[in-house]
Amino acid sequence: MTQTGWNLKHSYQLLPEHFYAKVEPTPVKAPAYAVFNGGLAAELGLPDDLKHHPELLSGNELPEGADPVAQAYAGHQFGQFTMLGDGRAVLIGEQVTNKGRRFDIQLKGSGRTPFSRRGDGRAGLAPMLREYMISEAMYGLGIPTNRTLAVTTTGEHIQREIEIPGAVLTRVSSSHLRVGTFQYAAGLGDVDALRLLADYAVQRHYPEAAGEEKRYAAFYEKVVEQQAALIAQWQLVGFIHGVMNTDNMSISGETFDYGPCAFMDVYHPETVFSSIDAKGRYAYQNQPPIGQWNLARLAESLIPILDEEEDAALETAQEILGRYGSYYQKHWVNGMREKLGFLTEENQDEALMDDLLDMMKKQEADYTNTFRALTLDRPEELPMWNSVAFSSWYDQWKKRLERQDQPLDLAFAKMKQANPAIIPRNHRVEEALEAVIQNDDYSVMENLMEQLKNPYEYSAAQEPYAQPPEPSDLPYRTYC
Ligand code: AMP
Ligand code: MG
Ligand code: MG
Repeated sequence: MTQTGWNLKHSYQLLPEHFYAKVEPTPVKAPAYAVFNGGLAAELGLPDDLKHHPELLSGNELPEGADPVAQAYAGHQFGQFTMLGDGRAVLIGEQVTNKGRRFDIQLKGSGRTPFSRRGDGRAGLAPMLREYMISEAMYGLGIPTNRTLAVTTTGEHIQREIEIPGAVLTRVSSSHLRVGTFQYAAGLGDVDALRLLADYAVQRHYPEAAGEEKRYAAFYEKVVEQQAALIAQWQLVGFIHGVMNTDNMSISGETFDYGPCAFMDVYHPETVFSSIDAKGRYAYQNQPPIGQWNLARLAESLIPILDEEEDAALETAQEILGRYGSYYQKHWVNGMREKLGFLTEENQDEALMDDLLDMMKKQEADYTNTFRALTLDRPEELPMWNSVAFSSWYDQWKKRLERQDQPLDLAFAKMKQANPAIIPRNHRVEEALEAVIQNDDYSVMENLMEQLKNPYEYSAAQEPYAQPPEPSDLPYRTYC
């Protein structure tokens, strides 16, 4: 077994001991390769033949330099504060690349930990493949995300509503620090521990804040802006995270903890897919305000150290949080300008955006394909094509594009870079999972993932993946 390429460090373990528990992964019966992301392995400088060592990707054996820990955190789950922690994951170390970049390598589904509560510490093959598909699709879309290095089957079955095949997912993140990590630190009532955590997060993600006079306020503002930017990007591609609990919100601004997430087909602001989100707390239209709610919980956790920086800490935190809306709006409007081919800024741009979304909602238009049809200038493909309101909107939009100094071709070329031709559509994801689970056939998933690497390509091979699902009476449901 080769070990060259591993360069695991453990800066997280320099934090006080309450932030983690040392725990060894629990070996699985028969680890076997299911998915291996060779491109990502190369970026990380990991050994070429790692693919052939499922024992290292499942936690049956550990690579050189590994020192596994389960991280402690807390979080608001659907609004309720809870003490949590990695109940089915271990961080084996931080891989530092030859360019000096540092990535957490985590095994998810690696067995019970002191934070498991009543859980079995395990993960199912289908949910882990789902996380692989959606996280790598997000990466292809250019949206900040943690990534999937591998999925390894375990040769074991786990008990859920029914027995399902088990798997371990190897997750790569710029860190696993969460809003919930700060809630945990604040809950300890130990200001020194909180300060150490904040210093660590600053150093790891926002080193430019370290030089500021009010470094923790500067840090908080960075997190607020990154989250506003991230959620704007979700909205722009129709991504619904599904469980925006504070423990599932990263400090780095990466999309994090893929559970019952899914992309919207038909545009409707109230869309919710998760079977456990009965009240629609995390519906599409609620994602931006929930982001702000979560960031308010972060501010509350930071108050003891913000207080040390200045007298008016509460007011400062409120002002920063108050800017979330304008950060969000700036990122969303700029993104929507790109989607509509606007290379300049005009006052009525936002009205054009709102009118289009209104028509899409009334006409139950497919979200992705509406922008795709505009990008290809094939408006006749849209369900609202025959409506008077749309003809008038389309005229205004075309005139708006023609008023720009730049040639129309350039506007359409830019639109291609902002509007994906394909997304991981729910029926395609399900089809890929079914082929694996029922026939051990990975080719359907591989073909889908090949196309999702370059979602802005607009190639002929992508056409079939752009088709929306057959209309169905049953709403699409996702499970954790
Ligand atoms: P999540 O919904 O994935 O954000 O998980 C919430 C909490 O439940 C985290 O502390 C997880 O580690 C824990 N958890 C989820 N599934 C399991 C499981 N099968 N065994 C133990 N802990 C789990
Ligand atoms: Mg979580
Ligand atoms: Mg999870």
